Amino acid sequence: MTGHRNPAGQRTVRRHNLSLITTALAAAPGSRAELAQRTGLTKATVSSLVDHLIARAVLIEGEPATAGVGRPARPVRLNPDGPVALGVEINVDYVAACVLDLTGELRCYRHSAVDNRAGSAAEAIGQAAALAGEVLAELGQPPLGGALALPGVVGADGTLLRAPNLPGLTGARPGEQLAAALRLPRAGRLLVDNEANLGALASLRAEPAVGPDFVYVSGEIGVGAGLVVGGELFRGTHGFAGELGHVVVSQDGPDCGCGGRGCVEQYAGQEVLLRTAGQPDLERLEVAVAARDPAALVAVAQAGSALGVGLASLLNVLDLPKVVLGGVYARLYDEITPALTVQLNRRVLAPRGPGRLSRSPLGIDAAVRGAAGAVLDRALRDPAGIEDRGEEFRGDLSGSELNGSELSGSGGSSGSSSPWRTPGAG
Ligand SMILES: [Zn+2]
Repeated sequence: MTGHRNPAGQRTVRRHNLSLITTALAAAPGSRAELAQRTGLTKATVSSLVDHLIARAVLIEGEPATAGVGRPARPVRLNPDGPVALGVEINVDYVAACVLDLTGELRCYRHSAVDNRAGSAAEAIGQAAALAGEVLAELGQPPLGGALALPGVVGADGTLLRAPNLPGLTGARPGEQLAAALRLPRAGRLLVDNEANLGALASLRAEPAVGPDFVYVSGEIGVGAGLVVGGELFRGTHGFAGELGHVVVSQDGPDCGCGGRGCVEQYAGQEVLLRTAGQPDLERLEVAVAARDPAALVAVAQAGSALGVGLASLLNVLDLPKVVLGGVYARLYDEITPALTVQLNRRVLAPRGPGRLSRSPLGIDAAVRGAAGAVLDRALRDPAGIEDRGEEFRGDLSGSELNGSELSGSGGSSGSSSPWRTPGAG
Protein backbone atom coordinates (compact mmCIF):
# COMPACT_ATOMS: atom_id res chain seq x y z
CA MET A 1 0.00 0.00 0.00
CA THR A 2 2.95 2.32 0.49
CA GLY A 3 3.45 2.85 -3.20
CA HIS A 4 6.19 5.46 -3.02
CA ARG A 5 8.41 4.79 -5.99
CA ASN A 6 10.80 7.66 -5.50
CA PRO A 7 13.47 7.31 -2.81
CA ALA A 8 12.97 10.88 -1.54
CA GLY A 9 9.31 10.15 -0.85
CA GLN A 10 10.23 6.94 0.95
CA ARG A 11 12.75 8.77 3.10
CA THR A 12 10.12 11.35 4.01
CA VAL A 13 7.63 8.66 5.02
CA ARG A 14 10.26 6.79 7.02
CA ARG A 15 11.32 9.99 8.75
CA HIS A 16 7.72 10.74 9.65
CA ASN A 17 7.19 7.20 10.92
CA LEU A 18 10.32 7.37 13.07
CA SER A 19 8.93 10.52 14.69
CA LEU A 20 5.62 8.71 15.38
CA ILE A 21 7.57 6.08 17.32
CA THR A 22 9.68 8.48 19.39
CA THR A 23 6.83 10.86 20.22
CA ALA A 24 4.66 7.90 21.26
CA LEU A 25 7.45 6.62 23.52
CA ALA A 26 8.07 10.09 24.95
CA ALA A 27 4.48 9.93 26.21
CA ALA A 28 4.81 6.38 27.61
CA PRO A 29 6.87 3.20 27.04
CA GLY A 30 5.18 0.34 25.23
CA SER A 31 5.71 -2.95 23.46
CA ARG A 32 6.00 -3.15 19.68
CA ALA A 33 2.40 -4.37 19.47
CA GLU A 34 1.21 -1.46 21.61
CA LEU A 35 3.23 0.95 19.49
CA ALA A 36 1.54 -0.41 16.36
CA GLN A 37 -1.83 0.28 17.97
CA ARG A 38 -0.87 3.74 19.16
CA THR A 39 0.72 4.90 15.90
CA GLY A 40 -1.48 3.12 13.35
CA LEU A 41 1.64 1.60 11.72
CA THR A 42 1.87 -2.11 10.89
CA LYS A 43 3.69 -4.36 13.37
CA ALA A 44 6.34 -5.11 10.73
CA THR A 45 6.99 -1.40 10.16
CA VAL A 46 7.13 -0.73 13.90
CA SER A 47 9.63 -3.55 14.38
CA SER A 48 11.88 -2.29 11.62
CA LEU A 49 11.83 1.28 12.96
CA VAL A 50 12.35 0.18 16.57
CA ASP A 51 15.33 -1.99 15.54
CA HIS A 52 16.77 0.99 13.69
CA LEU A 53 16.44 3.26 16.73
CA ILE A 54 17.79 0.60 19.13
CA ALA A 55 20.87 0.22 16.91
CA ARG A 56 21.44 3.97 17.27
CA ALA A 57 21.03 3.93 21.08
CA VAL A 58 17.89 6.06 20.91
CA LEU A 59 15.68 3.24 22.29
CA ILE A 60 16.22 0.26 24.55
CA GLU A 61 14.15 -2.85 24.98
CA GLY A 62 13.39 -4.14 28.49
CA GLU A 63 13.04 -7.67 29.80
CA PRO A 64 9.98 -9.62 28.58
CA ALA A 65 6.93 -9.21 30.76
CA THR A 66 6.06 -12.72 31.93
CA ALA A 67 2.42 -12.19 32.88
CA GLY A 68 -0.36 -13.44 30.58
CA VAL A 69 -0.45 -16.02 27.84
CA GLY A 70 1.25 -16.04 24.46
CA ARG A 71 4.65 -14.67 23.56
CA PRO A 72 5.78 -12.23 26.27
CA ALA A 73 6.01 -8.61 25.13
CA ARG A 74 9.21 -6.64 25.66
CA PRO A 75 8.62 -3.00 26.61
CA VAL A 76 10.46 -0.45 24.47
CA ARG A 77 11.44 2.94 25.87
CA LEU A 78 13.70 5.92 25.29
CA ASN A 79 17.29 5.13 26.24
CA PRO A 80 18.40 7.10 29.33
CA ASP A 81 22.01 6.27 28.40
CA GLY A 82 21.59 7.38 24.81
CA PRO A 83 22.19 10.79 23.24
CA VAL A 84 22.05 13.87 25.49
CA ALA A 85 21.01 17.49 25.02
CA LEU A 86 22.97 20.51 26.24
CA GLY A 87 21.35 23.59 27.80
CA VAL A 88 23.29 26.77 28.55
CA GLU A 89 22.13 30.02 30.09
CA ILE A 90 23.81 33.41 30.24
CA ASN A 91 21.87 35.62 32.61
CA VAL A 92 22.60 39.02 34.12
CA ASP A 93 24.25 37.77 37.30
CA TYR A 94 24.97 34.10 36.61
CA VAL A 95 25.73 31.49 33.97
CA ALA A 96 24.45 27.91 34.03
CA ALA A 97 24.75 24.72 32.01
CA CYS A 98 23.01 21.36 32.16
CA VAL A 99 22.60 18.10 30.28
CA LEU A 100 19.33 16.20 29.94
CA ASP A 101 19.11 12.62 28.72
CA LEU A 102 16.52 11.52 26.17
CA THR A 103 13.96 10.82 28.90
CA GLY A 104 14.27 14.43 30.14
CA GLU A 105 16.18 13.50 33.32
CA LEU A 106 18.75 16.00 34.51
CA ARG A 107 22.14 14.29 34.26
CA CYS A 108 24.45 17.14 35.07
CA TYR A 109 24.11 20.76 36.20
CA ARG A 110 26.44 23.68 36.93
CA HIS A 111 25.63 27.19 38.10
CA SER A 112 28.11 29.98 38.61
CA ALA A 113 27.42 33.45 40.02
CA VAL A 114 29.06 36.02 37.75
CA ASP A 115 28.08 39.62 37.08
CA ASN A 116 27.82 39.98 33.31
CA ARG A 117 26.56 43.57 33.29
CA ALA A 118 29.89 45.32 32.84
CA GLY A 119 31.61 42.51 30.97
CA SER A 120 32.16 41.98 27.28
CA ALA A 121 30.38 39.39 25.16
CA ALA A 122 33.60 37.36 24.95
CA GLU A 123 33.89 37.21 28.75
CA ALA A 124 30.28 36.10 29.30
CA ILE A 125 30.46 33.55 26.50
CA GLY A 126 33.80 32.30 27.81
CA GLN A 127 32.25 31.69 31.24
CA ALA A 128 29.30 29.87 29.70
CA ALA A 129 31.57 27.79 27.44
CA ALA A 130 33.68 26.77 30.43
CA LEU A 131 30.63 25.59 32.35
CA ALA A 132 29.17 23.80 29.31
CA GLY A 133 32.54 22.15 28.77
CA GLU A 134 32.45 20.87 32.35
CA VAL A 135 29.02 19.24 32.08
CA LEU A 136 29.87 17.65 28.73
CA ALA A 137 33.18 16.40 30.07
CA GLU A 138 31.42 14.84 33.04
CA LEU A 139 29.19 12.82 30.70
CA GLY A 140 31.98 12.18 28.23
CA GLN A 141 29.91 12.34 25.07
CA PRO A 142 29.05 15.01 22.51
CA PRO A 143 25.49 16.34 22.71
CA LEU A 144 22.94 15.76 19.99
CA GLY A 145 22.46 19.52 20.05
CA GLY A 146 22.47 22.53 22.33
CA ALA A 147 20.45 25.61 23.13
CA LEU A 148 21.28 28.90 24.80
CA ALA A 149 18.94 30.94 27.03
CA LEU A 150 19.45 34.72 27.11
CA PRO A 151 17.79 37.45 29.21
CA GLY A 152 16.53 39.57 26.33
CA VAL A 153 14.78 39.62 22.99
CA VAL A 154 16.36 37.20 20.54
CA GLY A 155 15.92 37.67 16.79
CA ALA A 156 15.18 34.84 14.39
CA ASP A 157 18.86 34.76 13.38
CA GLY A 158 20.04 34.40 16.98
CA THR A 159 21.03 38.05 17.46
CA LEU A 160 20.41 39.38 20.97
CA LEU A 161 18.34 42.35 19.86
CA ARG A 162 17.48 43.89 23.18
CA ALA A 163 18.93 43.28 26.62
CA PRO A 164 19.12 46.50 28.67
CA ASN A 165 20.82 44.66 31.54
CA LEU A 166 23.51 43.17 29.28
CA PRO A 167 24.80 45.99 27.09
CA GLY A 168 27.99 44.06 26.25
CA LEU A 169 26.02 41.29 24.57
CA THR A 170 23.38 43.38 22.87
CA GLY A 171 23.74 43.11 19.11
CA ALA A 172 25.95 40.00 19.42
CA ARG A 173 25.16 36.47 18.30
CA PRO A 174 26.19 34.63 21.44
CA GLY A 175 24.93 31.28 20.13
CA GLU A 176 27.39 31.28 17.26
CA GLN A 177 30.23 32.38 19.51
CA LEU A 178 29.37 29.73 22.09
CA ALA A 179 29.13 27.01 19.44
CA ALA A 180 32.53 28.05 18.13
CA ALA A 181 34.05 28.08 21.63
CA LEU A 182 32.66 24.60 22.27
CA ARG A 183 33.69 23.49 18.82
CA LEU A 184 30.15 22.56 17.98
CA PRO A 185 29.96 22.12 14.22
CA ARG A 186 27.64 24.25 12.17
CA ALA A 187 27.48 27.09 14.65
CA GLY A 188 24.04 28.17 13.53
CA ARG A 189 22.57 24.94 14.84
CA LEU A 190 22.68 26.05 18.45
CA LEU A 191 19.15 27.11 19.34
CA VAL A 192 18.99 30.52 21.00
CA ASP A 193 15.93 31.86 22.79
CA ASN A 194 14.74 34.17 25.51
CA GLU A 195 15.08 32.73 29.03
CA ALA A 196 11.42 33.28 29.93
CA ASN A 197 10.35 31.44 26.78
CA LEU A 198 12.59 28.51 27.65
CA GLY A 199 11.44 28.58 31.28
CA ALA A 200 7.89 28.35 29.97
CA LEU A 201 8.82 25.32 27.86
CA ALA A 202 10.39 23.69 30.92
CA SER A 203 7.14 24.29 32.83
CA LEU A 204 5.16 22.73 30.02
CA ARG A 205 7.32 19.59 30.39
CA ALA A 206 7.57 19.52 34.18
CA GLU A 207 4.01 20.45 35.11
CA PRO A 208 1.46 18.93 32.74
CA ALA A 209 -1.22 19.75 35.34
CA VAL A 210 -0.85 23.45 34.55
CA GLY A 211 -2.36 22.77 31.14
CA PRO A 212 -1.62 24.16 27.68
CA ASP A 213 -2.45 27.84 28.30
CA PHE A 214 -0.45 29.84 30.82
CA VAL A 215 1.98 32.66 31.51
CA TYR A 216 5.36 31.72 32.94
CA VAL A 217 6.91 34.64 34.82
CA SER A 218 10.66 34.68 35.01
CA GLY A 219 11.83 36.96 37.81
CA GLU A 220 15.52 37.76 37.74
CA ILE A 221 17.16 41.18 37.50
CA GLY A 222 14.90 41.58 34.49
CA VAL A 223 11.27 40.45 34.54
CA GLY A 224 10.06 38.43 31.56
CA ALA A 225 7.09 36.29 30.66
CA GLY A 226 6.84 33.23 28.46
CA LEU A 227 3.37 33.00 26.92
CA VAL A 228 2.11 29.50 26.18
CA VAL A 229 -1.06 29.26 24.09
CA GLY A 230 -2.42 25.89 23.03
CA GLY A 231 0.78 24.19 24.19
CA GLU A 232 2.95 26.39 21.96
CA LEU A 233 5.03 29.47 22.73
CA PHE A 234 3.58 32.74 21.53
CA ARG A 235 6.50 34.95 20.48
CA GLY A 236 4.80 37.76 18.59
CA THR A 237 5.77 38.99 15.14
CA HIS A 238 9.31 40.07 16.06
CA GLY A 239 9.95 37.93 19.14
CA PHE A 240 9.13 40.76 21.57
CA ALA A 241 6.05 39.15 23.12
CA GLY A 242 6.14 38.67 26.89
CA GLU A 243 8.05 41.82 27.88
CA LEU A 244 6.16 41.89 31.15
CA GLY A 245 8.96 43.81 32.88
CA HIS A 246 8.16 46.80 30.68
CA VAL A 247 4.43 46.88 31.15
CA VAL A 248 3.74 50.28 32.73
CA VAL A 249 2.48 50.30 36.30
CA SER A 250 2.76 54.05 36.89
CA GLN A 251 3.25 56.42 33.98
CA ASP A 252 5.17 58.91 36.11
CA GLY A 253 7.23 56.26 37.90
CA PRO A 254 11.01 55.82 37.93
CA ASP A 255 12.98 55.86 34.66
CA CYS A 256 13.56 52.42 33.19
CA GLY A 257 16.43 51.06 31.09
CA CYS A 258 13.95 50.54 28.25
CA GLY A 259 13.50 54.29 27.84
CA GLY A 260 10.07 54.29 29.46
CA ARG A 261 8.99 55.08 33.00
CA GLY A 262 7.25 53.25 35.80
CA CYS A 263 7.70 49.75 34.34
CA VAL A 264 7.04 46.59 36.40
CA GLU A 265 10.80 45.96 36.53
CA GLN A 266 11.30 49.24 38.42
CA TYR A 267 9.23 47.87 41.31
CA ALA A 268 9.48 44.11 41.06
CA GLY A 269 12.91 43.42 39.50
CA GLN A 270 15.36 41.58 41.73
CA GLU A 271 17.70 44.54 42.03
CA VAL A 272 14.98 46.98 43.09
CA LEU A 273 13.60 44.38 45.47
CA LEU A 274 16.98 44.00 47.19
CA ARG A 275 17.66 47.74 47.26
CA THR A 276 14.25 48.53 48.78
CA ALA A 277 14.73 45.78 51.34
CA GLY A 278 18.27 46.95 52.13
CA GLN A 279 19.64 43.44 51.57
CA PRO A 280 22.74 42.47 49.56
CA ASP A 281 21.47 39.21 48.07
CA LEU A 282 18.49 36.87 47.83
CA GLU A 283 19.65 34.57 50.61
CA ARG A 284 19.82 37.50 53.02
CA LEU A 285 16.45 38.78 51.78
CA GLU A 286 14.86 35.39 52.47
CA VAL A 287 16.29 35.42 56.00
CA ALA A 288 15.04 38.99 56.56
CA VAL A 289 11.57 38.09 55.28
CA ALA A 290 11.43 35.04 57.54
CA ALA A 291 12.42 37.29 60.48
CA ARG A 292 9.56 39.68 59.56
CA ASP A 293 12.00 42.54 58.91
CA PRO A 294 9.77 45.56 58.08
CA ALA A 295 11.86 46.86 55.14
CA ALA A 296 12.02 43.38 53.60
CA LEU A 297 8.26 42.90 53.95
CA VAL A 298 7.57 46.32 52.37
CA ALA A 299 9.90 45.52 49.45
CA VAL A 300 8.27 42.16 48.79
CA ALA A 301 4.74 43.56 49.09
CA GLN A 302 5.60 46.40 46.69
CA ALA A 303 7.07 43.92 44.20
CA GLY A 304 4.03 41.63 44.49
CA SER A 305 1.64 44.49 44.00
CA ALA A 306 3.42 45.91 40.92
CA LEU A 307 3.78 42.45 39.44
CA GLY A 308 0.08 41.83 40.07
CA VAL A 309 -0.92 45.06 38.29
CA GLY A 310 1.28 44.20 35.31
CA LEU A 311 0.08 40.61 35.18
CA ALA A 312 -3.55 41.68 35.40
CA SER A 313 -3.08 43.81 32.27
CA LEU A 314 -1.46 40.91 30.49
CA LEU A 315 -4.22 38.47 31.53
CA ASN A 316 -6.92 40.92 30.48
CA VAL A 317 -5.37 41.22 27.02
CA LEU A 318 -4.65 37.52 26.48
CA ASP A 319 -7.28 35.77 28.63
CA LEU A 320 -4.87 33.08 29.83
CA PRO A 321 -6.13 31.09 32.83
CA LYS A 322 -2.90 30.27 34.68
CA VAL A 323 0.22 32.00 35.96
CA VAL A 324 3.38 30.09 36.91
CA LEU A 325 5.88 32.07 38.97
CA GLY A 326 9.55 31.24 38.40
CA GLY A 327 12.98 32.56 39.39
CA VAL A 328 13.07 34.87 42.40
CA TYR A 329 9.26 34.86 42.60
CA ALA A 330 9.29 31.09 43.04
CA ARG A 331 11.75 31.51 45.91
CA LEU A 332 9.65 34.22 47.56
CA TYR A 333 6.34 32.65 46.55
CA ASP A 334 4.61 32.54 49.91
CA GLU A 335 5.56 36.14 50.72
CA ILE A 336 4.92 37.72 47.35
CA THR A 337 1.62 36.10 46.40
CA PRO A 338 -0.69 37.85 48.91
CA ALA A 339 -0.09 41.34 47.44
CA LEU A 340 -0.02 39.92 43.93
CA THR A 341 -3.31 38.07 44.41
CA VAL A 342 -5.03 41.20 45.71
CA GLN A 343 -4.26 42.96 42.43
CA LEU A 344 -5.25 40.00 40.24
CA ASN A 345 -8.55 39.60 42.09
CA ARG A 346 -9.27 43.31 41.80
CA ARG A 347 -8.30 43.77 38.15
CA VAL A 348 -8.62 40.58 36.10
CA LEU A 349 -11.99 40.54 34.35
CA ALA A 350 -12.19 36.84 33.44
CA PRO A 351 -13.64 34.49 36.06
CA ARG A 352 -11.02 33.03 38.37
CA GLY A 353 -10.43 29.31 37.81
CA PRO A 354 -8.92 26.85 40.29
CA GLY A 355 -5.17 26.95 40.73
CA ARG A 356 -4.72 30.21 38.84
CA LEU A 357 -1.39 30.90 40.50
CA SER A 358 1.37 28.33 41.01
CA ARG A 359 5.04 28.16 41.85
CA SER A 360 7.48 26.70 39.34
CA PRO A 361 9.16 23.67 40.93
CA LEU A 362 12.20 24.33 38.75
CA GLY A 363 13.08 27.68 40.32
CA ILE A 364 16.18 29.29 38.91
CA ASP A 365 17.01 26.20 36.79
CA ALA A 366 13.93 26.54 34.61
CA ALA A 367 15.49 28.36 31.66
CA VAL A 368 18.60 26.23 31.34
CA ARG A 369 16.51 23.05 31.61
CA GLY A 370 14.08 24.47 29.11
CA ALA A 371 16.98 25.08 26.74
CA ALA A 372 18.08 21.45 26.86
CA GLY A 373 14.41 20.39 26.73
CA ALA A 374 13.89 22.37 23.51
CA VAL A 375 16.72 20.38 21.93
CA LEU A 376 15.12 17.13 23.13
CA ASP A 377 11.71 18.12 21.80
CA ARG A 378 13.18 18.84 18.40
CA ALA A 379 15.10 15.56 18.40
CA LEU A 380 12.11 13.46 19.41
CA ARG A 381 9.93 15.12 16.80
CA ASP A 382 12.54 14.31 14.16
CA PRO A 383 14.71 11.42 15.36
CA ALA A 384 16.24 11.06 11.90
CA GLY A 385 17.98 14.32 12.80
CA ILE A 386 19.60 12.69 15.88
CA GLU A 387 21.71 10.42 13.76
CA ASP A 388 22.44 13.14 11.20
CA ARG A 389 23.67 15.44 13.92
CA GLY A 390 25.49 12.65 15.69
CA GLU A 391 27.45 11.95 12.52
CA GLU A 392 28.23 15.62 12.13
CA PHE A 393 29.46 15.93 15.68
CA ARG A 394 31.57 12.83 15.45
CA GLY A 395 32.93 13.87 12.10
CA ASP A 396 33.77 17.31 13.33
CA LEU A 397 35.41 16.45 16.60
CA SER A 398 38.60 15.17 15.04
CA GLY A 399 40.87 17.88 13.75
CA SER A 400 38.56 20.75 14.61
CA GLU A 401 40.17 24.06 15.36
CA LEU A 402 39.54 25.88 18.59
CA ASN A 403 39.73 29.59 18.44
CA GLY A 404 41.54 30.21 21.70
CA SER A 405 40.29 33.77 21.93
CA GLU A 406 36.74 32.50 22.21
CA LEU A 407 37.61 31.07 25.56
CA SER A 408 39.81 33.86 26.82
CA GLY A 409 38.77 35.07 30.20
CA SER A 410 36.77 31.94 30.84
CA GLY A 411 38.93 30.81 33.72
CA GLY A 412 37.22 27.46 33.34
CA SER A 413 38.30 23.95 32.74
CA SER A 414 37.60 23.66 29.03
CA GLY A 415 41.12 24.68 28.13
CA SER A 416 42.30 23.84 24.69
CA SER A 417 41.25 20.21 24.57
CA SER A 418 37.89 19.03 23.32
CA PRO A 419 35.50 19.59 26.21
CA TRP A 420 33.90 16.14 26.08
CA ARG A 421 37.11 14.24 25.94
CA THR A 422 38.68 14.73 29.29
CA PRO A 423 41.55 12.52 30.32
CA GLY A 424 40.25 9.58 32.27
CA ALA A 425 36.60 10.40 31.61
CA GLY A 426 34.24 7.47 31.31
ZN1 LIG B 1 10.94 49.46 31.03
